[in-house]
Amino acid sequence: MAYDQNNIFARILRGEIPCKKVFENEHALAFHDINPQAPLHILVIPKGAYVSMDDFSEKASAAEIVGFVRAVGDVARDQGVAETGYRILANHGHDGHQEVPHFHVHIFGKKRLGAMLPKD
Ligand code: 5GP
Repeated sequence: MAYDQNNIFARILRGEIPCKKVFENEHALAFHDINPQAPLHILVIPKGAYVSMDDFSEKASAAEIVGFVRAVGDVARDQGVAETGYRILANHGHDGHQEVPHFHVHIFGKKRLGAMLPKD
């Protein structure tokens, strides 16, 4: 799948759409989800143009991967959930219900989370 330069997270990265930023480093940006599913719901995105985990894991440089993974851990620590616990989630493609085609990791926390997957 080709990267869509006009997806909503690309527009946030270009500053065309505002976000509630909580963290930024050279390779990643983190901000509050617009429709939170838990008391803490933050999205961490790489600054590079990657569609999904599939794309990112295959094509990102080692520096981008380190910068991104460090950002996820730093955000969780900054938000105070490293002690209490949290969940990270990345949806990929149709079966994963990915809505925004720019790779992102969700961080959920600040409550005792439910089952890992809903029953269907
Ligand atoms: P996905 O299903 O792709 O893993 O999740 C996309 C997430 O992006 C959803 O949780 C949705 O609420 C969030 N989202 C969609 N549009 C915006 C936006 O404009 N701003 C922010 N902060 N979050 C968004």
